[in-house]
Amino acid sequence: MEFDFENRILDPEETPEDFEVENPLRPRTLAEYVGQDKVKENLSVFIKAAKIRKEPLDHVLLYGPPGLGKTTLSGIIANEMNVNFKITSGPAIEKSGDLAAILTNLNEGDVLFIDEIHRLPRTVEEILYPAMEDFSIDIITGKGQMATSYHLSLPRFTLVGATTRAGQLSAPLRDRFGVVLRLEMYSSQELAKIIRRSATILGIDIDNDGAIEIASRSRGTPRIANRILRRVRDFALVQNREKIDFSTARVALDKLEIDELGLDANDRRMLKAMIEFYNGGPVGVETLAAAIGEESVTIEDIYEPYLMQIGFISRTPRGRVANRAAYLHLGLEPVE
Ligand code: ADP
Repeated sequence: MEFDFENRILDPEETPEDFEVENPLRPRTLAEYVGQDKVKENLSVFIKAAKIRKEPLDHVLLYGPPGLGKTTLSGIIANEMNVNFKITSGPAIEKSGDLAAILTNLNEGDVLFIDEIHRLPRTVEEILYPAMEDFSIDIITGKGQMATSYHLSLPRFTLVGATTRAGQLSAPLRDRFGVVLRLEMYSSQELAKIIRRSATILGIDIDNDGAIEIASRSRGTPRIANRILRRVRDFALVQNREKIDFSTARVALDKLEIDELGLDANDRRMLKAMIEFYNGGPVGVETLAAAIGEESVTIEDIYEPYLMQIGFISRTPRGRVANRAAYLHLGLEPVE
């Protein structure tokens, strides 16, 4: 079967369908936000302190693989602080003037969320430094002798930046965030809770075993859990099942070719390539990307985080290595 990359069900990146459906599913308060206990605990202290001081929250950097709840959490921060929430992304801001326009339109205390902040053009990033530090920007208009520079004060705002990889952020930008929080993959129990919550909102009947079954194949990622829930609901509907139970979930997941660990054909193809072409590694990510016809960022952001989390691959200075557990999962003989 040809694999449909555009509609890969396990892709943690947001699709247009997710965007439509995710809105009502996004928790609005810290209390509703499942899991990430350490992050929530810290944030709630910082939010309370900022409110007592009647000051905006310090700038926050959220990092972790896609689909773990960074956008959701920044919306919650704005909601808990009772301020406006503005969303943009690194690649959407092309010129420093674009950022200047966004910044000068903010109100005191607002949360500005910049997704994929590591992809901001360098010239734009430089405008952010004084904006974050002193709440001001310098704008230069005109050229040569006619050039005039304006110093503009900005309202005191909170920047929430999200990135899949904190390591890709330039040091001057990273240093300007007072709060840096790393989101972790979710346990099956936590994902099952998210699935049951989403099912209630969407009017889907699901029992505990059905939720756990979906959760355990969702690669620790709420976005994937919610997406699989919708697909399983389709199977249940066509099979005239009113409730999603263990067997409905299992049959649907098998049809979707998502295995017990949440791996799909692409993951298996990558692992097989590592093992069969490169003897299990070490193999460089660029080489591996070329071998399986993927972009190296796709491997680093989408395939690897989960495969590393479950111990199937490791990163070494000389490249990626497939571990014993990966061989066994694929039914291959591990090399000793
Ligand atoms: P990211 O910005 O990290 O890619 P999102 O914030 O867009 O991820 O989250 C994707 C979806 O997963 C959201 O629409 C939300 O429904 C769900 N979600 C994420 N984190 C949680 C959570 N902690 N509790 C409940 N639902 C969550």
